[in-house]
Amino acid sequence: MADKTIFKRIIDGEIPAEVVYEDNLCMAFRDVNPQAPVHILLIPKKEIASLNDLTDEDTPLLGHLYAVVRRLAKELGLESGYRLVTNCGSDGGQTVYHLHFHILGGRPLSWSPG
Ligand code: 5GP
Repeated sequence: MADKTIFKRIIDGEIPAEVVYEDNLCMAFRDVNPQAPVHILLIPKKEIASLNDLTDEDTPLLGHLYAVVRRLAKELGLESGYRLVTNCGSDGGQTVYHLHFHILGGRPLSWSPG
């Protein structure tokens, strides 16, 4: 079996994280290398390597994740907006192969990505 990803190790409580939200389906915690005043990673507890590995059965899970994004945006004071990012694959800049959403905010964000 492949090695656990760092995010699976966080889910399993093997390494610490600053958790801001958790339920039976997902978990959100602060990014260790924040790119904005608010930089949260939202992950499903189900091991899905990337966006490309989602299947039709994950559609309800995705709806739930978006609902949690809205809830967190409110709780974290991101009334003036935020950015939701999922890097996919090597060209997309993905470094951890456990599906995750970056929630970035707390300052005006420039465009475009590097
Ligand atoms: P990706 O590059 O795959 O889109 O995003 C991975 C993110 O995970 C990066 O922003 C990186 O800073 C974050 N990260 C990597 N290792 C850890 C860790 O051990 N703890 C936390 N909280 N974030 C991590």
